[in-house]
Amino acid sequence: MRVDAIQLTRDLIRCPSVTPQDAGALDVVQGALDGLGFTCYRLPFGEGADRVDNLYARLGTASPNFCFAGHTDVVPAGEQNHWQNDPFGAEIRDGAIFGRGASDMKGAIAAFVAATSEFIEDAADFTGSISFLITGDEEGPAVNGTIKMLDWLTEKGEILDYCLVGEPTNPGKVGDMAKIGRRGSLNGRLQVRGTQGHVAYPHLADNPIPRLVRILDGLLARDFNDGNDHFQPTNLEIVSVDVGNGASNVIPEMAEARFNIRFNNAQNDDDLQQWVRSVCDGVGGNYSLEMRASGDAFLTPPGILSGLITDAVSKVTGRVVELSTSGGTSDARFIKDHCPVSEFGLVNQTMHKVDECVRLDDLAELTAIYREILTSFFKGKK
Ligand SMILES: [Zn+2]
Repeated sequence: MRVDAIQLTRDLIRCPSVTPQDAGALDVVQGALDGLGFTCYRLPFGEGADRVDNLYARLGTASPNFCFAGHTDVVPAGEQNHWQNDPFGAEIRDGAIFGRGASDMKGAIAAFVAATSEFIEDAADFTGSISFLITGDEEGPAVNGTIKMLDWLTEKGEILDYCLVGEPTNPGKVGDMAKIGRRGSLNGRLQVRGTQGHVAYPHLADNPIPRLVRILDGLLARDFNDGNDHFQPTNLEIVSVDVGNGASNVIPEMAEARFNIRFNNAQNDDDLQQWVRSVCDGVGGNYSLEMRASGDAFLTPPGILSGLITDAVSKVTGRVVELSTSGGTSDARFIKDHCPVSEFGLVNQTMHKVDECVRLDDLAELTAIYREILTSFFKGKK
C-alpha cells in the first residue's frame, strides 16, 4: 500500500497541533504506519498542562535500525488574518500546500512515511528495521519529548543505529544543505554592583560601570581562533549593555550586560563558564553572573550517514549537498548521544512565518531522496 505524501501532509496540517497540543496529529502518523505494518508505541510524558504525547514506531526486529526523527507540533499561526488561507486548512494554491507546519516539519514526516511505503513495496524482504521517533514537544520546552523517549528506548533495549532528522535544512532548494552537527549556545547575564552617589562626590560612591567595561573588554580580548573543517570559529557577542541611568549627576548603583557565545566543538560549556568567571574575578568587585547553555556543540563526522544523503541528493536532483553545522539547535542534540545523527528535510524559507508552505515538487523530491536513502542503506542487507 502506497502512502501519498501530499495527502498525508494535508491531513497533518489539518490537525492544529500548536505545541504542546497534539490535536490528533500523532493519530494520523500512527494510522499511516499501522497500515504499513509498523508496531506503534504511544509515549505520553508529563502531567497536566505539561503532558506531551509522543510516538515510537518500528517495522522489523532485526538490526540495523534506521530511524527517522521529527516532530508533529508546530509554532502558533500568529495573526490568522495575515494568512492568505486558513493556516490549518492545507489548501493547495500555485503548486504548494499552505499551512502551519508544512515546511517545519509535517511535510518531511509525510515524505518519510511515503518513501517507506514505496521502499517496502519493492523490498519487503529487507533485513533490518525502519523506525520513527516522533515527538509533540520540539517547538516547546523539549522536556517531555525526545529526551524522555530516548530514555524509554534505552530501558527497552531498543537500539537506533542511524538517525535522520527531518528538520527543514535547505535555504533555497531541496538538496542545498544537510546538517551534520550544531554549535552550542551559551547565554550570559552579568550584573556589576557598586554604590550610588553624587558625581561631584565620587569618593562617597562606587561606580560599577568601569568594572563592567573592563570585564567586557576582557571577554572581547579573547581571539578564539578555533575554527576547523566543519565549524566556524567560536564567537562571543555582547548583545546588551544597560545602566538605565537617566540622570547626569548620579553615579548608578548597578550596570548590566548580556552576551551570547556560539561555540564549536573545540570548546565546551563548563570550560567557557569557568573562563567567563575568571575574567570577572580578575576585575573583582561585587558582581553576579547567570549563565545557561543549550548543550555542547556536536559533530557527526562525515561518514555513512552523510554519504547516504550526499549520494541520494546527487542521484535525485543532481545537486551537491553542503554538509553544514550552521543554524540553531534541534532535537539532534539529544539523539547524538545514542547514534550518528544528521538532519535533512525541506526548504526552510517559510518556516515559522505567515503563509508557511511546501511546494508539491519539493515534497516529491524529498520523498524520492528519502526513498533512495532507504534503498542504498538496506542494499545488500537481505
Ligand atoms: Zn522543526
